[in-house]
Amino acid sequence: MQFADLQDVLIIDDSALHRQVAADICADIGFKSIRHAANGDEGLSMIRQQMPHLVLLDLEMPKVDGVQVMQQLAAENLQPHIIVTSGKDYLLISTVELMGRSLGLPVLGGLKKPLKTAELQDLLQRLYAISGAQEKELDLCEETDIRVALDEGHIIPYYQPKVSLHGGLLKGAEMLARWKHPEQGIIPPARFIPVIESNGWTTELTLKMLEHGLAQWQDWARRGLRLPLSINLSAVSLKGNTLISEIEGRLRKSHVPPRFIIFEITETAIAENLAEAIGIAARLRLGGMGLSIDDFGTGFATLQQLTRFPFTELKIDQSLVTSVADKPHLEAILNSVIELASRMQLTTVAEGIETTTDLDFMHHRGCLMGQGYYIAKPMPADNFTGWVKERMQQRHEPTAPASGTEEPSGS
Ligand code: C2E
Ligand code: MG
Ligand code: MG
Repeated sequence: MQFADLQDVLIIDDSALHRQVAADICADIGFKSIRHAANGDEGLSMIRQQMPHLVLLDLEMPKVDGVQVMQQLAAENLQPHIIVTSGKDYLLISTVELMGRSLGLPVLGGLKKPLKTAELQDLLQRLYAISGAQEKELDLCEETDIRVALDEGHIIPYYQPKVSLHGGLLKGAEMLARWKHPEQGIIPPARFIPVIESNGWTTELTLKMLEHGLAQWQDWARRGLRLPLSINLSAVSLKGNTLISEIEGRLRKSHVPPRFIIFEITETAIAENLAEAIGIAARLRLGGMGLSIDDFGTGFATLQQLTRFPFTELKIDQSLVTSVADKPHLEAILNSVIELASRMQLTTVAEGIETTTDLDFMHHRGCLMGQGYYIAKPMPADNFTGWVKERMQQRHEPTAPASGTEEPSGS
């Protein structure tokens, strides 16, 4: 695989042999310029001279080591993407990764030396996703078609259950937008949300999802199911100031208790709009709604930034959850994330539970809830009630839960 946009990599390593191995791999992958530094000081001055796209940073170096390089970069507010490399064990590498992120540096991940092409490519794909280049490759839908779909109500929510990892009780559902296309069938959000965002229609999407959710909540409540519903907020909608009053107006009219509505904001959205995000978050919480940090572990929000937010829930990204038992180096990160969340009294939710092993692993780490294909895929509202019934029968529970048994946690 070639990465067309990759310009410039700086390899900081005291071993000439390891620098050469890394340089060969970077050349294969398609970097246009490859620079070398034989120690931390030299690396820092090269970064100051010209900011590279990516730094491969060795941890163990005489005098100024990799940890000190990161501390210095943070102090000078220099933020190249960083991949930590080391011959040491994965636990040390992942601890340093976490330290870099909590300093606010964009650390893509860590690799054990000697580097391997496939592993570096995996991490670079992450850089690609972050820079939005993935969207370019995606087959985005036409703007005019999306406008019509919004107007005619073809964009609807699917519901994915969230369950307790201890005992499996249904705890809530996330609403995920789908375009029900008359000819093409169901279109996933990745193909239309970027277009909605670039046209400034995100508030409209949020409010439509909310309206669907509130009506659905009432319908389910009449049948004895009072279920917390989560709605995704896009980064773009954190900028305006009309969103909150529109949300509050709809909530009041619906008579749905606000604590049953949870808004999810991604870690990246927060990092991008810190001041606005704090304002919106505070107002949502003042209105009694829940607030969740989505995709935690993919962005570069610092742990310190997060403690300033009135979150009620933390959703651990699927990249840290799916097949986690095969990724021992993630364990240290997961343990500290779950510990931090519980210290902040946040409900933890593991996203992307695909197997019983994922579920057991996250449960044993102390994560409270889970969501993922192993439990159920996102589904239309009509199928959701059937799923609930079937699950309750399997679990020998009464078919309609008593009203109020599914209280939201964390609010
Ligand atoms: P998200 O909020 O992190 O949602 C979770 C995504 O993971 C969903 O993808 C869900 O279908 C998928 N997923 C759930 N369980 C598993 C699993 O076990 N394995 C795997 N591989 N994937 C799983 P989906 O529905 O395609 O949504 C993608 C993203 O689009 C969402 O990520 C969210 O950021 C955005 N999105 C969806 N609906 C809305 C919306 O109404 N408004 C906004 N602003 N964004 C939305
Ligand atoms: Mg979400
Ligand atoms: Mg997520």
